[in-house]
Formats: sequence, structure tokens, C-alpha cells
Amino acid sequence: MRLFSYIKKDQLYRIGIELDNIKYDFSRIWDYFKDIRGEHRLPDIQFLQMMIEFAMFSKKNINEVITTVTNLRSLDDLKITELIQFDIPIARPQKILCLGRNYQKHAEELKNKVPDEPIIFSKMPSSLLPHEGAIVLPKGVGRVDHEIELALIVGKMGKNIPETQAYNFIAGYTIVNDVTARAMQKGDVEKKKPWMRSKSFDTFCPIGPYVIPFDALPDPHNLDITLKVNGEIRQKANTAELIFKIPQIISYLSKHMTLHAGDIIATGTPAGVSELHPGDVVTCEIENIGILENRVAAE
Ligand code: MG
Repeated sequence: MRLFSYIKKDQLYRIGIELDNIKYDFSRIWDYFKDIRGEHRLPDIQFLQMMIEFAMFSKKNINEVITTVTNLRSLDDLKITELIQFDIPIARPQKILCLGRNYQKHAEELKNKVPDEPIIFSKMPSSLLPHEGAIVLPKGVGRVDHEIELALIVGKMGKNIPETQAYNFIAGYTIVNDVTARAMQKGDVEKKKPWMRSKSFDTFCPIGPYVIPFDALPDPHNLDITLKVNGEIRQKANTAELIFKIPQIISYLSKHMTLHAGDIIATGTPAGVSELHPGDVVTCEIENIGILENRVAAE
């Protein structure tokens, strides 16, 4: 089971669901469910982020919706048959938090030490880009790199979350490409400046297209993670290699700031980062989550 946001030709935003490789219009399934249950008690769900904020984003809840509807009607005419445009799954996160140097070989390839506590930074939400959108290389910034990462989507508000409770605060999983203006980042670090600007250019956060509910992905620490440029493998690892594991990441971040439903947390990139050029096609794949693909364009 995986969910996505999409735009139809009529420019309506909708939620889609993929079950056994078939895509359905979940917004309409939800409408039928509301009619069956009595619509006054249930919200209108237009965006995945709303599903998460209303605590409805779990395989268990979604299965209940689907079972209730299919007991009364077939889903056949709710299949998505037309061409669709994938949208950013979580369009307005309050924050995008990222881990630096969270795979040993990646820390080594950039000649950095393996950290003894998580290195955290943020990307601005204005950098988000949907599947199939173009990563735009800003003029005059020099080398820009790709960085495939497993991303968590926070499911509910939390502060000082103990590691043992961390999974209760995750709604689901998706893919992020933490695109980085590497030359600018390096220069800023050398001048002891923050390196946020090198991470936050528009289009520097491709995301999605699918979000997997937390209870549909039993082990997020055993997923093959692969990035190709023009079909050639550049990054290949497994999330088992994460230095700081998901419970440590959630707990650490929540000691410093309140986490909110819809926040995105990118867990760090493995070795193999390399420079992007106009015309490249970047394909990010994480096992059991999906494929995020973007082309690269000059400004
Ligand atoms: Mg990164």
C-alpha cells in the first residue's frame, strides 16, 4: 500500500492510493466512506498532510476505509486511468530537518569525521519539488550534488520523545533528494558560516512521489537505497548502515524542538555523491517505497 498526491487535468488536487500495482482515486473512495459513515462527523480530506494531521494515516485505518466501501460497491470505476501529474506529497511541512554524515562511507568520502552525535540542519520548504519536476542549477554556484535519503514524515506533535516511543510519532516514509550546492557549502564551512543557503535553493528538495504508512513498512532499517544518474549507479547502500538509527534521530531532534505532524526528516545520504549537469536524469529508488525521478536543467 502506498499513497501519493496528484493533480488531474482539471487541476484538482487529489489523494491517490496504489494497491497491488493499481492506482485508485482515494479522494473519491473517502467521499463514499463519508457517505456511509455520516459525513458530518468526518473531515473533508483533500491532502495527504490533512490525513496525517487528522491521525488517519495508517495502513489499519486506510484498510478500514477500503473494506467499508468495497462491501457496498466495486472500486473498478475509481481506478485512475488518465495520465496524472504527481504532486509534492506533503506540500506545506512546517519544517524539513536533515541529518549530515549519517553513513560512515559518505562522511569519509567528503573527508569528514564520523560524528559522535547527530549533525542536524534544515532545508526551507520552498525548496520542495515533485517527482518529474526539474532540478534547476542556479547560475554561478559551481558544483551541485545529488544526495538520496530515506525520509520520515512526522505523524503527531511531540517534544522530548524517548527513543522507545519514537515510532509512535512517525506517520510514514518517503524519498528525498537532498540536492546541495557543494562548492558553496564547502566555502561557507571554511568561512565558519552556516551552510543553509547551499541546501535551500528552489527545487533542491525533490520528494516522493509515494508515502508508505508506518505500519505498511515493518523494517525501515533494511532497505536498499540506490541513486542513478542517466541510468548509471552512483549511490548504492542499505539503510542498515545508518549511523544514528530512526529512534535516536527522533529523540535527538525532539530534545531541541517540538516536532509537528507533517514535518519531514531526511536521515542522511550514503557514499557516492557526485556532480549534476544540465540534461541529467536523476533516479532515486528505495526498496518498498518507490522511485523518485527528476531531470536537471540550467537556470
Ligand atoms: Mg544530505
